[in-house]
Amino acid sequence: MDREEFRCRGKEMVDYICEYLGNLPSRRVTPSIEPGYLRPLLPKEAPQNPENWDVIMDDVEKYIMPGVTHWQHPRFHAYFPAGNSYPSILGDMLSDAIGCIGFSWAASPACTELETIVVDWLGKAIGLPDEFLANAEGSKGGGVIQTSASECVLVTMLAARAQAIKRLKQLHPFVEEGMLLSKLMAYCSKEAHSCVEKAAMICFVKLRILEPDDKCCLRGATLRQAMEEDAAMGLIPFYVSTTLGTTSCCSFDNLGEIGPICRMFPSVWLHVDAAYAGNAFILPELKHLLNGIEYADSFNTNPNKWLLVNFDISTMWVRDRIRLTSALVVDPLYLQHGYSHSAIDYRHWGVPLSRRFRSLKLWFVLRSYGISGLQQYIRHHCKLAKQFEALVKSDQRFVVCNEVKLGLVCFRLKGTDKQNEKLLSNINGSGKLHMVPANVNDKYTIRFCAVAQHATEEDVDYAWKVITEHAVELLDAAEF
Ligand code: PLP
Repeated sequence: MDREEFRCRGKEMVDYICEYLGNLPSRRVTPSIEPGYLRPLLPKEAPQNPENWDVIMDDVEKYIMPGVTHWQHPRFHAYFPAGNSYPSILGDMLSDAIGCIGFSWAASPACTELETIVVDWLGKAIGLPDEFLANAEGSKGGGVIQTSASECVLVTMLAARAQAIKRLKQLHPFVEEGMLLSKLMAYCSKEAHSCVEKAAMICFVKLRILEPDDKCCLRGATLRQAMEEDAAMGLIPFYVSTTLGTTSCCSFDNLGEIGPICRMFPSVWLHVDAAYAGNAFILPELKHLLNGIEYADSFNTNPNKWLLVNFDISTMWVRDRIRLTSALVVDPLYLQHGYSHSAIDYRHWGVPLSRRFRSLKLWFVLRSYGISGLQQYIRHHCKLAKQFEALVKSDQRFVVCNEVKLGLVCFRLKGTDKQNEKLLSNINGSGKLHMVPANVNDKYTIRFCAVAQHATEEDVDYAWKVITEHAVELLDAAEF
């Protein structure tokens, strides 16, 4: 494809994207296919000779689209939103065209500097303390874009582990590092995302998973008891991962209680994972959900969940960037440059070396919508969730199972787990709606999340109609 053909095909692709996103309601939200559907449809080997673009695009509609789950569909209410917007798509397009690999300042100065600036903008809008911002007076902290929240949890745990081992090595210079490692204990709630468990596996440290209260909130007293018990047994608490906006039911750990407990133990790293909910803290009326952030060492949220920015972009801030980077610095000559000591090199802030120009799409979104536009978008989703909650509450056959603070409602039929499982499976099987389950207070619940950017009150009414029709069918069948 030469430049002129790209110009033409690019315009066609934009048209295709507009048609696709504009006509999503005419498609099933989930595909009706079985695993392995694609292999018999495609050739066994890559083509030896170039193929015509029209033929390739025809195959997208013929073979690929029938296997796509449409996350931007107004009937998609599963998981959390997958950020998407036209300015963001254009930002990624430009990033792909520039095609730089911005691992250091010198590798593409604008790539590094824009990242520092827009992550500061977002941190400020969220209401993070100045210590987390790169450009604040006297700050030792700063922000970075990671690929995912899982990576944020992993790198902060790696940093905490390095800090703990360094401290213990000073206290016990003759004890093997492997022995010190075997003493380290990390903590999270049962409601934390599974990525905390995965990070602990990778870091080869013990993880104690704690019981939250009946509102799925980890409390300070629970953490304190666990840490004291472990310390009494010679273990060393070194890392606590808390969640603001849990995956199952969007509950909030009590940071205000947990923070002071962490401070009672020598250099425990307190991380706050707000992958979904953190975006909502740009709303003044929701800033109170961030109470206790002053105790945190690090914080992450995913604009690629709830800020209209396409995957991948998980923003992470640390209070002390040296404590993060000292766990991750390796410095071969071929990556060094003349400004290594004065400029930010983001290769030291995460696992991969290569980095795309991801800040462009965040910059485009922040500027195109403005904070006020993004606030309006999030408020709209919260309102839709409240509308759905009211519908559930108005029906005696159902019960709401979480405190609806943002865009997620967990609900269930007043019946058995099996009935609720069957209800969800029937609804998903119909292709009319898509939702996923969660275990909330040891009960099988169904999650309804406001997801599509332009979802309307009618979409919520439609969803409730589909749910109640399936419930009637299920309850009728049970009676006979
Ligand atoms: N943390 C929380 C609270 C989440 O809700 C999720 C995913 O939904 C994750 C972490 C994992 O996110 P990622 O896919 O960006 O690793």
